[in-house]
Amino acid sequence: MDFNTIIEPFRIKSVEAIKFTSRQDRIQALERAGNNIFLLHAEDVLIDLLTDSGTGAMSASQWGALMQGDESYAGSRSFYRFQSVVQNITGFRHIIPTHQGRAAERILFHTMLAPGDIVLNNTHFDTTRANIEVQNAEARDIVIAEGRQPSSLHPFKGNVDLERLEQTLDEEGEKVRLVMATVTNNSGGGQPVSIENLRQVRQIAHHYNKPFFLDACRFAENAWFVKQREPGQQERTPLEIAQEMFSLADGCTMSAKKDGLANIGGFLAMNDDALAERCRSLLILTEGFPTYGGLAGYDLEAIARGLEEVVDEDYLRYRIRSIEYLAEKLIAADVPIVRPPGGHAVYIDARAMLPHIPPEQYPGIALTTAMYTEAGIRACEIGTVMFGLQPDGTEKPAAMDLVRLAIPRRLYTQSHIDYVAEAIIHVAKMRESLRGYRITSAPAVLRHFTARFQQVAE
Ligand SMILES: *Cc1c(COP(=O)(O)O)cnc(C)c1O
Repeated sequence: MDFNTIIEPFRIKSVEAIKFTSRQDRIQALERAGNNIFLLHAEDVLIDLLTDSGTGAMSASQWGALMQGDESYAGSRSFYRFQSVVQNITGFRHIIPTHQGRAAERILFHTMLAPGDIVLNNTHFDTTRANIEVQNAEARDIVIAEGRQPSSLHPFKGNVDLERLEQTLDEEGEKVRLVMATVTNNSGGGQPVSIENLRQVRQIAHHYNKPFFLDACRFAENAWFVKQREPGQQERTPLEIAQEMFSLADGCTMSAKKDGLANIGGFLAMNDDALAERCRSLLILTEGFPTYGGLAGYDLEAIARGLEEVVDEDYLRYRIRSIEYLAEKLIAADVPIVRPPGGHAVYIDARAMLPHIPPEQYPGIALTTAMYTEAGIRACEIGTVMFGLQPDGTEKPAAMDLVRLAIPRRLYTQSHIDYVAEAIIHVAKMRESLRGYRITSAPAVLRHFTARFQQVAE
């Protein structure tokens, strides 16, 4: 008998208390934080949906593995164990540990790119884009058109636009240094890329003699979507699908803070011997010796186990279902969200929810502050505050004003998610009473992290 209730595929061995605060406490905390949820003390947050990066719960097996960490400077046992697990999944010849995904990116791009080069990707994540642009190269997004439409129900909204890929390689081929695909497409809402699309991207990239790398942060979540949605993939395991995804690429960058199920770590991997040699030289300069790359031996152990656990079918079924569950509750209550939900987050369309607040008054900030004030929930604005500031100092409304509810892995139970849904539906009912904000102080770059806000007068 198959029951309908999908349960958490774990039981809880160790708990961490979360702090309940009063509405008055939260109003004061927000005031101290200048209404910017990034400036809150995490302790004052009841349910923290700021990010799914490094915030997941490790398993008893991972915690046990920490004690097995070999802290030898060179050639540690933990490195060889890490290398063998990563190689089993990815098949790449060279496995280079790094302290985070962005370190892998920096090493790869610094080694590969020259000024004026172009990198093509479905959608570059912000650290990826920044690490390309710092080399005076261009990060160009070529996701399919459906990937930019919040209401399109295409099953693989993360797919690369093959026509644009081919056209760009035709017209500007000598400038394109690298073709990438981000799985799942984080900045596009955590949307998956199909195996068929990856096959074609590989074929086109190789036809033009360009290397093809995956930004593989959420490779397991992508593999689960492929298993669920792609014709002919239902009988394969997530591991087999992931292995094929990696086999189509020449290398990858990875943040172990996502599908590594670890709190820190990452890696760079590739087949090209000469490129790996140059990357390792830079690694030694800035991260560490090639068998630890800025990580402790125990981190390598935790990541190795995490990578084995993340491809478990029961885990992935629960993981993707728990996001969908929250999305369904919000849709049923007519809360506007980006559809279909991706693999790690639900995105509320704050502009549609709060049509009386113009983008210049930051509907995303109105929503994040209300969610915190009413229910102690922390979520992140992805809209005009994050993307609106132009290089010349003026401001332009972002394409969308979203609020992201990122769900940490294995951290919260179904009743936490029920509470989140109830709280958001409550905020949606009081939507007309919410007011916009203006910025009172902000730094010149990446202003969303530290800007301070004041509510506009009625
Ligand atoms: C998180 C992330 C990165 C960067 O990884 P860090 O470990 O945070 O440095 C790169 N690409 C994508 C798609 C990500 O989600």
